[in-house]
This record gives sequence, structure tokens and C-alpha cells, in this order.
Amino acid sequence: MTSLITSRARHVAVIGLGAAGLVAVRELRREGHTVIGFEREKHVGGLWVYTDRVELDSLSVDPDRTIVHSSIYQSLRTNLPRECMGYSDFPFVTRSGDGDPRRYPDHREVLMYLQDFAKEFKIEEMIRFETEVLCVEPTPENNHKWSVQFKSSSGVSGEEIFDAVVVCNGHFTEPRLAHIPGIESWPGKQIHSHNYRIPDLFKDQVVIVIGSQASGNDISKDIATIAKEVHISSKAVASDSYGCYDNLRIHPTIYRAREDGSVVFRNGKVVFADAIVHCTGYKYHFPFLKNNGYVTVEDNRVGPLYKHVFPPAFAPGISFIGLPFMGLQFFMFEIQSKWVASVLSGRVKLPTDDKMMEEAIAFYTKLEDLGIPKRYTHFLTDPRGNPMLGTFKPEDAVVISQSDYFNWIAKQCGCTSIERWRERLYNVAIKKIFFGGDSYRDQWDDDQLIEEVYGEFAKLKSNQDCSS
Ligand code: FAD
Repeated sequence: MTSLITSRARHVAVIGLGAAGLVAVRELRREGHTVIGFEREKHVGGLWVYTDRVELDSLSVDPDRTIVHSSIYQSLRTNLPRECMGYSDFPFVTRSGDGDPRRYPDHREVLMYLQDFAKEFKIEEMIRFETEVLCVEPTPENNHKWSVQFKSSSGVSGEEIFDAVVVCNGHFTEPRLAHIPGIESWPGKQIHSHNYRIPDLFKDQVVIVIGSQASGNDISKDIATIAKEVHISSKAVASDSYGCYDNLRIHPTIYRAREDGSVVFRNGKVVFADAIVHCTGYKYHFPFLKNNGYVTVEDNRVGPLYKHVFPPAFAPGISFIGLPFMGLQFFMFEIQSKWVASVLSGRVKLPTDDKMMEEAIAFYTKLEDLGIPKRYTHFLTDPRGNPMLGTFKPEDAVVISQSDYFNWIAKQCGCTSIERWRERLYNVAIKKIFFGGDSYRDQWDDDQLIEEVYGEFAKLKSNQDCSS
């Protein structure tokens, strides 16, 4: 299939118009393709469109439930400074007027940034809102075209044929749950962080929060403002430790839950709790790729994929933007989109299907040899600067460094890779998340670097003004 692509414009469908889909649409159009974006909701922005609504099934296990897309809680502020979060040529700077000027702004500010981006690049005119994609499959004629079947909120169904489909449906909507022995007969209430918005539900209660990464960290502190006690269950805590301050305690993982309402931790501590909040992450989920035979999801590995983007046997007809998690997300969406757009036009060639498959298998074998579980396949960050990877060995950097990944893609499609300042800012920021204490979002000592960054933004603006 790869060799049939010649240099020309393609008719491309983009599924989902969050931060990934928006930049994918822009890059595809810049490359000369015609694009139609399908968005299930009424607005662009995806995850950043906050809603008070939650799913009726508070653990989101019922496959037939009505989906609420966003997992954003009301108090959420970004965990990275805005300067490194934006797309390369549209800096995420303070807006005039009603915005949040902080370096780590609240979620509304991110949404406004994405809306500004959509407006600047006239993206909305290419989007079909309130239109859910239900099925994506190669056409039966096997003519390298793709059938996209969809349904609008008013009930109108349709099918359209495309040369290619770019999947940008996000991966923070389908919860993963921790397995807790005895939980079936534990009488308290349980929710997943996907359905957490505000702490009020937990007033004066004893609450266990499972997970101590970004969401677990934020949510436990949010709940602690109103609850009687909050107990965090963390994989990162050794079995004999029992951290404690104010009404918030840290334990190792849960050993079991019991019918009498108690929960036993692996350090032997027993807590009678009213509620458990699972901040245990999400699963990749592509309900519209039914019985597809080209990608599967196994223990959160989407594969086989060449460089997290192309399924070898079907490239470049279908591609995935945004699978790697952690790291500089918007920048990654942008550079992956440039690659997909340039491959589709034929300006950039992919290796043969066999070579891509060989590469994907070699990558999986390497992860296995290093003892890295499948679910970390798409964990793209720089282990040299990320304490979350404390248990991995330094040589893992070869496999999963985000900068190496960006540089590799940039080389393929002849575009600019990650700026040195962005990389430096990110490396400082990621350490602050883990070692910066509760006030990491409001205290920093990188003023000199920031000055340099704003100097770069000014240069960019002046170049853009000259060329327009
Ligand atoms: P989404 O934003 O989820 O967008 C996917 C879109 O696809 C949605 O609009 C959805 O409606 C649509 N869609 C889905 N299925 C269909 C379908 N079948 N048909 C049509 N449309 C469909 N990143 C940062 O850089 N900084 C942060 O501070 C940060 N904080 C985060 C906090 C939380 C709690 C979470 C969960 C993530 C955070 N992230 C952060 C990561 C975040 O995921 C990315 O920043 C990014 O917004 C994800 O964009 P996306 O486009 O991949 O997915």
C-alpha cells in the first residue's frame, strides 16, 4: 500500500477535534489536503471543555453508558508552564482580557488558547460538529480507500469515503481500575477520577485515593480541603512507610477491602473508609475500529505501530496522533501531524510494510528485554529528567526519550524539531512536579530562561509579521 502513494492532495478524515485533531487539521491543510474533521461534541477543545456532567456509572464500566468525554475537574490547573505547552508557531502566552495570566493557568485558559488557535487557522469551517464516528474500515473494494460511518446528534447517519483517516480521539475517557481483592463486597462508594469534578460529595468523609500521579496528587489535596481524612494509596511508597500531614496520609498499595467497610493497606494499616476514588489512569479505546485486524490494544499497547503512528500493513491510510503520553503533548501532536501530512502527500516516504513491522517488533522486543511492561509502550518522556521512571535503567532513554523521538520525526519530514529552550523548560518543570512541593505551580526560579523564551516568542512574532 505504501508504494502507491504519489505526491498529491488527499481527501482526509480527522476523528476528534481536541488539541491533537486541531493541529492535525491545520497541518493536513497546509500540505494541500482536503480535510473533514468529525467531532462528537458541540465544540473544539476535547478534554479541555470542562463540564459539570459526569457519567451515571461512577466507575464507567458499563460499555453501554452515555459517555461524558472530559475528565477535567473544576480546580484543575496545568501541570506544565504555559510557555512550553503551546504549538511551535502559536505560543501559549497570556491573553488580554478575561484570561488567567498565571504561568500554570486553569483549564479555561487552555480551552481559550485552543479556541484561539482554531479561529486563527479557520479550522472550524472544516469540522462537522455533533457528529460521532461509529465505524472506520477499508472499503470492500480493497482500493486503498477508507469508509467512515457516522451519526449526527440529530440522528442522521451517513457514510463517506476517504483516502486516509487520522485518529485523534484522545485517551483519557475510558477508565482503568485497580484490582482490589474483596472490593465486590466492600459497602462504600467508588468513583473513577474521570467522574470527579468537585470535592463537595466527600464532606466530612474518610476517603481513599488510589494513585499518586498528576490527577491523584491534585484530587487528594482537593478532597482534603473538605473531607475528614484522605488516605492516598501509592505504588511509589515502600511497604513500611506511613507518611502523614494534616488530614492527608500516604500508604502503600491496598492489600484488600472487607465487607465491614475497612480497607487494609500493605503496611498493615486499616482504615474504615466511606469512599474510594480511583485515580488509576485510562485505557486506549477505539470503539469505531471494530474487528479491524490492523491494530489491537493489549495491556494498553496499541499495536503494531511504526513509531506510535502508522500500522505497517495499512500505512499511511490510517494513522494515530497523540498516543504517547506524558511529555510535551501539543508539540508532539504537531510534529506527528506534520509527518502524517507529508507522508500522505508523498513528499516523505515510509519504509516498506515489512521494514516498518520489523522495526515495531524490534521496539517491542527491546521493551521486553528491559523488563518494561506493555502498558508503558507509549510512555514517551525523557527518563533522564523524570523521577517517575526511577525504577527503569538509564539505557531506557534510548528507547523512549521524547527529544530523540521528536528529532527523528523532524528529520523524516524536514521540519524543525524541539527548540532547545522548550526542552530545558520541560526538564525543569517535570522535576518541579515531583520535588517542588504543593506550591510548585506558583514558585519558580527560572526567570532567566523565561526571559530567553519570551525573546524567542518576540522573534517569532516579528518573523510572522514580516511574512504576512
Ligand atoms: P482530547 O482532548 O481528549 O480530544 C479528543 C476529541 O475526540 C474530543 O473532542 C472527543 O469529543 C472526540 N471524539 C472522541 N471519539 C469520537 C468519535 N467517535 N467521533 C467523533 N469525535 C470523537 N497535557 C498538557 O500538556 N498539560 C497539562 O497540564 C495536562 N493536564 C492534563 C490533566 C488531565 C486530568 C488529563 C486527563 C490530561 C492532561 N493533559 C495535559 C494531557 C491532555 O490529554 C493533552 O493535553 C490533550 O489535551 C489531549 O488532546 P487529544 O486531542 O489527544 O484528546
